[in-house]
Amino acid sequence: MTVPACEDCNKWLNDNFERPAHAAITKTLDECDVPLTYAETTALARWLGKTSLLLQHQEAKGIVPGDEDRRQRDCWEVATRLVRELRRGSELPDDLSIWMARADDTDGNAELSTSPRIYLPTTSGTGGLGGESVATSFGIGMRSGAMLCVQVAYHPLVDIAHPFEGSRFAIRLWPDPPAKFNIRNLPRLSTVGRRQFNSVFVRGAGHITLPLPDERVTCRPDVDPLMDFWTHWGRSMPVDEQSPETGSDHE
Ligand SMILES: [Zn+2]
Repeated sequence: MTVPACEDCNKWLNDNFERPAHAAITKTLDECDVPLTYAETTALARWLGKTSLLLQHQEAKGIVPGDEDRRQRDCWEVATRLVRELRRGSELPDDLSIWMARADDTDGNAELSTSPRIYLPTTSGTGGLGGESVATSFGIGMRSGAMLCVQVAYHPLVDIAHPFEGSRFAIRLWPDPPAKFNIRNLPRLSTVGRRQFNSVFVRGAGHITLPLPDERVTCRPDVDPLMDFWTHWGRSMPVDEQSPETGSDHE
């Protein structure tokens, strides 16, 4: 995969993402039994985050490393802005989440009893915050033949209760990378489990205007986030969703 970049940007990518993550990537793809340290999980998360943003960038070209389940080859409109902000020296955004699972089509056996879905909304918050929530999944082959399954979502003003994280079939690496991480502690997903994992996110769940500052939407498995948001505080859903009442019926 290549994204056109000048010499300065290539050096920046190497110094800030590639070189710091090298040991963590090797240990992970080797399924090494020595846990990653906090510094290593952070470097791995930053590398996966940066790589995903570049993969979703409109100017990305070339072959995507990954598995055949990859459906969404369309890029994220927001990736261009996020890469620019990253380049200006900021950290990956907090509203970017990265999950990781391990799958083995040969002898993996972890799978859920159903195929849960998370419906991703578009939000509009105060002060121009918010935007469309998007997600992508890709796989990286590991040395043993198993697959490292990576899932990245950008979800402005949204919190996500990921069903695979909840059942400990996946680990969240960003935000808040774990203090220690051993890839061998992740169960191996079956073919069914891997497909379930890769199809968790569904885009286009509608538009929510957040009436109050600092409000966020929570996305739970198989729940319509709009209905959930408007009923959670005992509010009624506004007839015109674009101009909700900003009454004081909060809490
Ligand atoms: Zn440049």
